Amino acid sequence: MSAAEDFDCVVVGAGVQGSFTAHQLAQKNQRTLLLDQFVLPHTRGSSHGQTRIIRKAYEQDFYTHMMEECYALWAQLERETGVKLYRQTGLLVMGPEKSQNYQLLKTTLERNKVPLVLLTRDNFSQHIPNFTLAEGDGALVDITAGILYADRTLRTVQAQFQKLGGIIRDKEKVMDIKPGPVVTVSTSAGVYRAKRLVITAGPWTNRLLSHTDLQLPLEVVKINVCYWKEKVPGTYSVKRRFPCFVLTEGEETNEHIYGLPSDEYPGLVKICYHNGVKTDPDQRDKQTDRSDINLLQKYVARCVPGLIPEPAVVESCMYTMTPDRHFVLDCHPKYSNIVIGAGFSGHGFKFGPIVGKLLCELSLGEVPSYDLSPFRIRRFQTKTKSAL
Ligand SMILES: Cc1cc2nc3c(=O)[nH]c(=O)nc-3n(C[C@H](O)[C@H](O)[C@H](O)COP(=O)(O)OP(=O)(O)OC[C@H]3O[C@@H](n4cnc5c(N)ncnc54)[C@H](O)[C@@H]3O)c2cc1C
Repeated sequence: MSAAEDFDCVVVGAGVQGSFTAHQLAQKNQRTLLLDQFVLPHTRGSSHGQTRIIRKAYEQDFYTHMMEECYALWAQLERETGVKLYRQTGLLVMGPEKSQNYQLLKTTLERNKVPLVLLTRDNFSQHIPNFTLAEGDGALVDITAGILYADRTLRTVQAQFQKLGGIIRDKEKVMDIKPGPVVTVSTSAGVYRAKRLVITAGPWTNRLLSHTDLQLPLEVVKINVCYWKEKVPGTYSVKRRFPCFVLTEGEETNEHIYGLPSDEYPGLVKICYHNGVKTDPDQRDKQTDRSDINLLQKYVARCVPGLIPEPAVVESCMYTMTPDRHFVLDCHPKYSNIVIGAGFSGHGFKFGPIVGKLLCELSLGEVPSYDLSPFRIRRFQTKTKSAL
């Protein structure tokens, strides 16, 4: 076997979080290697597909605060590369007016002075045509929200990383990790030594952590990504300024249902259920549960009358859930030169630039730019309650 190659830092996992982290490390002049088990780009993790929602509408202030800087970082990346990554559409938030979830979202937005429009039952259909606001539901629009172009983002940030001298090796699966002051990482193709390791392995995180005596309470679920055909093409199109939307809870479920205007596939609107059924990440396509699709069909028939209530396209993706649905951004409890970014619980894409910055700071032993207590591993020993 050839001699091990030396790096300042190895990042395992070239999804959105690993790619932004590697880019940040390279910006700080760290000789960095970014590894992925699959040929890039691929559709087998959590970061593929054309679009994601970006929003400041959250129940917790700490996410809304992080998004302030995050929007600026997205804009900076667009400026530096000349690539359009964000399109403003606004996010229509709906939910039972008196419910805790809806009220928390509304008050967090108001408290943080996020530009928003409160819709009334009387003016709702004038602003949002061909859509049903259920009896008793409130509605508001988070104006700055919109769409992020996901596949394009990964290509762009990986190219920026390479421009700075960063090295990407794909189709190299990490098979073993030997912790220590210098970490040894063995892959299907080579051996690398690094002062620091970052694990951003999405649904495979616990597989990687098993080499370091750590397991996190992560659950991997399969998401059926459903696209619904417009009866009249263009009815819910991004060009007609139809917004992204989220229903916090409704007749069909207490879980979020969310949607994006037709854009990536002309004539098709993406509407998904914000949870899924447990799966092994290597056996994703063997999980064939359709209970979420049945529920979405009822919702579409009830509230989005301009769509055919039968999905025209169903794609697959995975969420990696923590018990409280907050991320894990922390150093390994035993090995401070191993940093973990995981458990993004289906809402991590928009935070990519800030997650990259924070994981880079943790890796270099710098004081993190934000209070990371909601994201620390130690919370799992004391708190496993469900977050909103
Ligand atoms: C359908 C869907 C809709 C979503 N919508 C939104 C949204 O609107 N807004 C939002 O903010 N977020 C959204 N998310 C969530 C967001 O996309 C994820 O939080 C984010 O992509 C997670 O990225 P990641 O880098 O942690 O994981 P991944 O993208 O899964 O990357 C992990 C990488 O690690 C690699 N890897 C694993 N094990 C190894 C190994 N042993 N060796 C080498 N490489 C390895 C994998 O191959 C993979 O490429 C959505 C997710 C899904 C699935």
